[in-house]
Amino acid sequence: MVELRDWLEKRQPDLVESLVAAIQLRPGAVPLPHQQVSALVLALSVAIDQGPEILQQVMDQWSQEDEVAHPDGGRWSHTLAAIRDTLWASIISEFSPVHALSHLKVLESLLVDAILIAAELDQKHRLDRLHQESLEIQERLRTLEQSKANFISIAAHELKTPLTLIEGYANMLMLELPEDIQAKAGILLGGIANGTIRLHEIIESMIDISLIDTDVLEISYQPIYLRHIVRMTARDLTDVFRIRRIELLIEDLPEDGAPSYGDPGRLYQAFYNVLGNAIKYTPDGGQIKVSNLVLPPNDDDGPDHRGYLHLRITDTGIGISTDSLERIFDKFAVLGNVALHSTSKYKFKGGGPGLGLAITRGIVEAHRGRIWAESTGHNEETLPGSTFHILLPLFDAPPEVS
Ligand code: ADP
Repeated sequence: MVELRDWLEKRQPDLVESLVAAIQLRPGAVPLPHQQVSALVLALSVAIDQGPEILQQVMDQWSQEDEVAHPDGGRWSHTLAAIRDTLWASIISEFSPVHALSHLKVLESLLVDAILIAAELDQKHRLDRLHQESLEIQERLRTLEQSKANFISIAAHELKTPLTLIEGYANMLMLELPEDIQAKAGILLGGIANGTIRLHEIIESMIDISLIDTDVLEISYQPIYLRHIVRMTARDLTDVFRIRRIELLIEDLPEDGAPSYGDPGRLYQAFYNVLGNAIKYTPDGGQIKVSNLVLPPNDDDGPDHRGYLHLRITDTGIGISTDSLERIFDKFAVLGNVALHSTSKYKFKGGGPGLGLAITRGIVEAHRGRIWAESTGHNEETLPGSTFHILLPLFDAPPEVS
């Protein structure tokens, strides 16, 4: 052992020269500078007495070099094989057969350890690099998401001013027109007014979605009766139900005397979107049913938590394919052909900008509730229908806004 260690130390300069050359010549081996080969020879001589742990440092260094030079993975087995062959040749030529055999055994075992350490480090470096890359991608996605939210918010605010001008000038035109042509022009100006109302709604939706995206949607908690809001929403859609010949059935919502707490305007908007969609995606003559269930609170719900109202809005419409049931709650999630969208809001399959459900989810979640959809699939012939579930907490006092 001492003999081998002394030999490695004494012959280090020559050995390093021949090892560097052998590595250069070996196909597939990673070329290494003198300094690193020299560090290995030194580490081998120390490891003879102290064990293979010291090799860890050298291999760590190598592994990092290789990461830069060969990002597709290490080639240490070729490099170490070149080192082993060269050391073997020198040992066989310089020692007696008996000594050579014992030295070769020691060196072979250390070099195998080095290969194992290098393989492990390679793996670790590769995983670290993948982790780093995935963090960078996540960061890029976050930036993209942020610029999308900024774009939506800026575009919405910028569109508001010219829209108000169009509205103002159309109203002025109506007032300025001589009476005899007012009736005729009124129809045309009415068209402009309808268009601007719809545009206003779209702009408001864009503003709402940017509030939800940036987590600044404000919920102004007031005492409410959820059943009143559901009924009010349905009442405001009475004409649409009539025109589309869709029957609406509302199961009696429980009347327990005490109000809950929520933002009536926002909840109205949420129910309106879901009921409006049920109308849009149900053909004339269909049926929409609103049923409900009161559920007890969970063990970890706070003291002012009375339980949940579970609303189910079921339609007899075209249904939703099972792989889209989650996606429809993402913003701009429009299934089907956008070219078929019509400007009429409640026409069968009218379609919209794809913001309604994203806003609805934002509102429900801001109330600490949940919304999800259920359907056996999309089929415009067999009309499997869909059910939207809305789970809203019932509070005895306004919850603390965090
Ligand atoms: P849109 O403005 O397009 O209606 P939404 O966010 O309200 O956007 O809905 C997203 C998509 O979810 C719709 O384009 C539609 O494909 C699907 N969808 C929503 N409600 C229903 C429903 N009741 N039946 C079938 N499909 C629905």
